[in-house]
Amino acid sequence: MNKNFIYRPVCEVCGSKENKIIFTRAFTDPSVWNFLERYYENRIPIDLFENVDYEIKKCPDCEFIWQSYILNNELLGELYENWISKEQSLDKSNSYSDVDESSLRRQMFVIKKLLNKKDINVLDYGMGWGKWCMAAKNYGFNVFGYEISEERTSFAKNNGINVINDYKKIKDHKFDFINSEQVFEHINNPAETLNYLFTALNPGGYIRISVPNGRNIEKEFKNSNWTAGKNALHPLEHINCFNYQSLRKLGQLSGLKYIKQPILIENNTLVDLIKGKLGSMLRQYSGTCLYFKFGE
Ligand SMILES: [Zn+2]
Repeated sequence: MNKNFIYRPVCEVCGSKENKIIFTRAFTDPSVWNFLERYYENRIPIDLFENVDYEIKKCPDCEFIWQSYILNNELLGELYENWISKEQSLDKSNSYSDVDESSLRRQMFVIKKLLNKKDINVLDYGMGWGKWCMAAKNYGFNVFGYEISEERTSFAKNNGINVINDYKKIKDHKFDFINSEQVFEHINNPAETLNYLFTALNPGGYIRISVPNGRNIEKEFKNSNWTAGKNALHPLEHINCFNYQSLRKLGQLSGLKYIKQPILIENNTLVDLIKGKLGSMLRQYSGTCLYFKFGE
């Protein structure tokens, strides 16, 4: 086997050893490689990818879908520090849209409503450039951000965020709310990670997990003209693909209780009210942004 890769044979959500290969193609096949070459602007060497397949598996028990061969830890560091363009990533993070602003505002309201107390400790697990943390700080929460990328952590520190950059130190804290936005699709052991985060949660606290929705991914693989892209699955980066069922299962198997997202009405026209209710109802039954609670 290619030593640059780690093989993940077992479902990383429920541990089932049963699985089905739903797609397989050499990484060096043009349908995969052309995308990687373009996306990382020729920064990734093709010889690292010899004799290894872009293989996708599905668990029949929990519906989790995953990339079987993932980069080893050393190359994963290389990917996030050097292959991904930092300038582009920061530009993207800085280009605030109205949608982002209102989504962040709504999230902060939800935290206040759920916890309903003073002195709220929050952690953004995988904070990136610290955008969520800065919004949380403006709402008066005690804010911590976890991130491994050195450049991103020093950027966040300069913006007054308490940074945790050692994974082992997360458990030295107790949080009332842990946020993870677009993180669990990237990490190689989602169940283990969530179990660990749980140990840093206060009783009565909450964890929010938001990931890309992969409910249509199997259809895409059936297309004979399939080419790789930035999608719910994205070779090398989005190595885990959840739908509502598998994400809910992930939380429940770690011992957390799934809760419905509180419905918040900010606007007062009837149309907004209906839209807001419908939107949150749909999200509740098919979405992949879920809230979990520690305790009843
Ligand atoms: Zn499973």
